[in-house]
Amino acid sequence: MNHETMQHLQAMAIRVRESIIRMATNGGCFIGASLSCTDLVVYLYTRFLNVNKDNLEDPQRDYLFLSKGHDVPALYGTFAEIGILEKDRLRNHLTARDDLYLHPNRNVPGIEFHAGSLGHLLSVATGVALDCRLRGQGNRVVVITGDGELDEGSNWEACLIAAAQKLDNLVIVVDRNAFQANVETEALIPLEPLGDKFEAFGAGVRRVDGHDFAGMDAAFSAVPFCGGKPSVVIADTVRGRGVPSIERRADRWFCDFTADEVEALVRELHGEAGAELTSETLIVR
Ligand SMILES: [Mg+2]
Repeated sequence: MNHETMQHLQAMAIRVRESIIRMATNGGCFIGASLSCTDLVVYLYTRFLNVNKDNLEDPQRDYLFLSKGHDVPALYGTFAEIGILEKDRLRNHLTARDDLYLHPNRNVPGIEFHAGSLGHLLSVATGVALDCRLRGQGNRVVVITGDGELDEGSNWEACLIAAAQKLDNLVIVVDRNAFQANVETEALIPLEPLGDKFEAFGAGVRRVDGHDFAGMDAAFSAVPFCGGKPSVVIADTVRGRGVPSIERRADRWFCDFTADEVEALVRELHGEAGAELTSETLIVR
């Protein structure tokens, strides 16, 4: 990846993060998880996936399923950058005049499947990948899962099927931000060594820094990691990435900010004076 491309992706990711912050008001959003997967989503839609505003009706395009549906503001923000959504629509988040809800729904262009009830879309993606294979299509199916939702056994059942069917057109991306809701994953149901577990279930595995575009490019360029096996990218990320007053904070999970707080957070995103937030000023659900 050349320097110019890197700068382009970094600038886009900052704009998407600003969009996410601006969606965290008038009802709020799951801001921490949205900010953790932003770089992954930007990378995938600009460098990896054959999906754009002109081919959404083509069944042979690539597919991305967002299993951790509560971070859909990262999708909305990225879709606005690449022309799938009109940018003005982001202002409609959580209003009755649009379908931009807290969780993905298929009324929004580019959203492949409803999500939000966790632990289901890896199974859906596995079925779609099998269908694409049976039709002789050469496209790819990507699913982004949270780390916490890997507690759900349905994920591991899907891994068994994907391995049995040799679905090397399936890419499982884990947003490994080390939190689920307002608790650290390793304090609740430890997941590590996560890569070993996916390998034991028959996948090829790589681990990357989910905020390093060059590292992501190197990993995703090597997909499939093993012929005849699904690929798993474990992306280590920081929940709340880009806004220091939110980063790695268990209580900055779901937040509904005032208009002034939003402006302070946007300034913080751009490296200006930090936002002065107190837990009393935040609604955490
Ligand atoms: Mg998580």
